[in-house]
Amino acid sequence: MTARAGHAVEHRLSAFGTTVFAEMSELAARTRSVNLGQGFPDTDGPAEIVEAAVRALCDGRGNQYPPGAGVPELREAVAEHQRRWYGLTYDPDTEVLVTAGATEAIAATLLALVRPGDEVIALEPYYDSYAACIELAGGTRVPVTLRPHGGEFRLDLDELRDAVTERTRLLLINTPHNPTGTVLTRAELATIAELAVERDLLVVMDEVYEHLVFGGVHVPAATLSGMRERTVSIGSAGKTFSFTGWKVGWVTARPELVAAVRSAKQYLTYVSSGPFQYAVAEALRLPDDYFTSFREDLRGKRNLLVSGLESVGFEVYAPAGTYFATVDIRPLGESDGVAFCRSLPHRAGVVAIPNQVFYDVPERGAPFVRFAFCKQISVLEEAIARLGGAKFLA
Ligand code: PMP
Ligand code: GLN
Repeated sequence: MTARAGHAVEHRLSAFGTTVFAEMSELAARTRSVNLGQGFPDTDGPAEIVEAAVRALCDGRGNQYPPGAGVPELREAVAEHQRRWYGLTYDPDTEVLVTAGATEAIAATLLALVRPGDEVIALEPYYDSYAACIELAGGTRVPVTLRPHGGEFRLDLDELRDAVTERTRLLLINTPHNPTGTVLTRAELATIAELAVERDLLVVMDEVYEHLVFGGVHVPAATLSGMRERTVSIGSAGKTFSFTGWKVGWVTARPELVAAVRSAKQYLTYVSSGPFQYAVAEALRLPDDYFTSFREDLRGKRNLLVSGLESVGFEVYAPAGTYFATVDIRPLGESDGVAFCRSLPHRAGVVAIPNQVFYDVPERGAPFVRFAFCKQISVLEEAIARLGGAKFLA
């Protein structure tokens, strides 16, 4: 290693490079491609919530450091949200923590709860920050792979059970799942819960897509028997309200777990997003109509993208949740998703994400590619038209 300018510096996350989302958004901008890569909506959330943020800014609410746990208005709104949608009761003072998006919630939770040498079981393909945070915490990641089965990616519960050892500290579960769009069923979650109770494991639930479910229902693991006391649940305003740039997320758990997560969080950002916290408190209290019409709007976009990708010739795994659709590129004669995604902007003027980067064993994810559909209809139509006119190997 050398510290001289221009020389590479070895560091703890050298193996991770730049996130695939940043790389692909940059590629989209450079090639003027339609960006169906990084998952962010291309229309903002409700105007009245933007106005609430402006009001908070102008009224001087949140312009200075908010309280470490988050402003009381937002903590109360999060607790209310968990009760309203799931019948879960959390004390806003001791059982809710506001974070800089779900990303910080994940980082702080893993840094606080994973000890060097602990094993963390996560569903592969994993959201990219999981692997990096497990690494930072000194833990070992143990993948349990979702495999294609009957048109969707499913979890093998026996494989999950077999993955648990004496060193397993926690299960890191994401449902609805990015990038596959899988929504775990109540029965699957009940088996996970039984396993967690039997082996006395902590469970971290990444539920950022909780309101984006088109097939089945989202079952928060904390509602299942024996789970409330061992579960850290994570949510985000980015996904639910289309304000990914505001970076407002939250954790709900029993007081001892929240205190542990807060102890790590206070040395990461300490606090963030002051005025936006007030606005998100209002967003969480929007009537049911907002949540239903947001979901139905996305369902239409999902259907449009899924049928468009099918018409191009991909094998498409229609997602039950999230705003991503995964395809298999092999029917088009292609097999390497990374090469495919790097060349797609030049071949078709479209950007997508290679799922391979979410796998420990790259070959397992090689033929899969993810397209985001949280975009305007005209944008999706343009992408489909471009893909339809492109030349593929088959
Ligand atoms: N978890 C998952 C599964 C995600 O897809 C994302 C972002 N798309 C996050 C966490 C991070 O959320 P945030 O933007 O609130 O940090
Ligand atoms: N979660 C978003 C996605 O999966 C991206 C977030 C990010 O860029 N870190 O596309």
